[in-house]
Amino acid sequence: MNEIGAGLRPAAVPDLESIRAQFPILGRPMQGKPLIYLDSAASAQKPRRVVEELRRFYYEDYANIHRGIYELSQRASERHDRSRRRVQAFLGARDWREIVFTRNATEAINLVAYSFLRPMLEPGDEILLTEMEHHANIVPWQLVAAERGAKVVAAPITPEGELDLAQLRARITSRTRMIAVSWVSNVLGTVNPVEEVVDLARRAGVPVLIDAAQAVQHLPVRAAELGCDFLVFSAHKLYGPSGVGVLYGRAERLERMPPWQGGGDMIERVSFEGTTFNDIPFRFEAGTPDIAGICALPEALDFVEEVGLQAIHDHERQLLAAAEEGLRRIPGVHILGRPRRRASVLAFTVDGAHPQDIGMMLDLEGIAIRTGHHCAMPLHARLGLAASARMSVAVYNTREEIETFCAALERIAALVRGSGTEP
Ligand code: PLP
Repeated sequence: MNEIGAGLRPAAVPDLESIRAQFPILGRPMQGKPLIYLDSAASAQKPRRVVEELRRFYYEDYANIHRGIYELSQRASERHDRSRRRVQAFLGARDWREIVFTRNATEAINLVAYSFLRPMLEPGDEILLTEMEHHANIVPWQLVAAERGAKVVAAPITPEGELDLAQLRARITSRTRMIAVSWVSNVLGTVNPVEEVVDLARRAGVPVLIDAAQAVQHLPVRAAELGCDFLVFSAHKLYGPSGVGVLYGRAERLERMPPWQGGGDMIERVSFEGTTFNDIPFRFEAGTPDIAGICALPEALDFVEEVGLQAIHDHERQLLAAAEEGLRRIPGVHILGRPRRRASVLAFTVDGAHPQDIGMMLDLEGIAIRTGHHCAMPLHARLGLAASARMSVAVYNTREEIETFCAALERIAALVRGSGTEP
């Protein structure tokens, strides 16, 4: 059985009924059937407490932050500060100044690419990624590399869909200026050995960024302990509001980085002769952010921690194992990769059917999955595919949903083979 979060303590099985009751959207019918939401890797549904906090904040505490002298603005500013400290605790960062709010994980990676890496990049320098990266962890590096005459290098994956650590090590050269690796692949579900990647990078004296967009909702993350230079995630994949992302950066790195975007809030003093900039993290937070979204994020973090990452992990692992077993029994269905540690995600193909058709047929059953390249075109090219279908599980999914999904896919696969009945 695949394992995620090895080393975690066993935990109580979550009370699924009461968890599901916190997600009103799960009770909405789709195509006249009960919704089975298996697309949480794209974005997770929101528990009532997150939505209610957004509403409450707008009704009771809303004002722009860091500018007003009046009570309401101070209240909003205080809540915003508290969110930052809550994220600091959630990520195990040493200092609240190491937490930068962005719009999403993508913007956080762009911030590092443009502010940290671009000024130091020279022709011939290299940025080391892996073949399983999301476009968000490829394209920003390509943009700065193209501008500076540097190049992006990708470490290969094994036939099982794991990161080939020896190959990654072999690609670290004297020209490597940055290593950026996803913790969990959004296609293969592979849980990468980020501790070892960070160790390799540190030994080589190369800064390292961990893309934790698919990790923070499944595994406990202790950024300072991990020792990475940067780590990013998006709130919307973690049961939080969309429009909020987080960049964790070690203070000694952030302190030396120039601003990326200019505007309000990120300055110390502005005149037409010149401008001086605010301290970290404000230097990287130009303009008015999604104040309510940031202030509601702690509700999502409390939700995850109250259920317990261990319980979430155990539950999701069982669902994933059931899905994997079910899919492997269906003739013509092929699961992408066979990593030893997999979190939440299973991508697959069905012989003779385009993934989009599979997605549309499952939708008729009220089952929401994702189809396409999942923003990982290089990985699909490596696997000799243009697209795949992907199901992903979250804390609110049930064993019955997985059985319904497997049964529906079995009917579809039989139909495609021309030997079955209409699904
Ligand atoms: N990295 C990974 C591994 C992802 O799966 C995603 C989104 O699917 C991202 C980065 C980008 O996240 P966002 O679109 O929220 O910026």
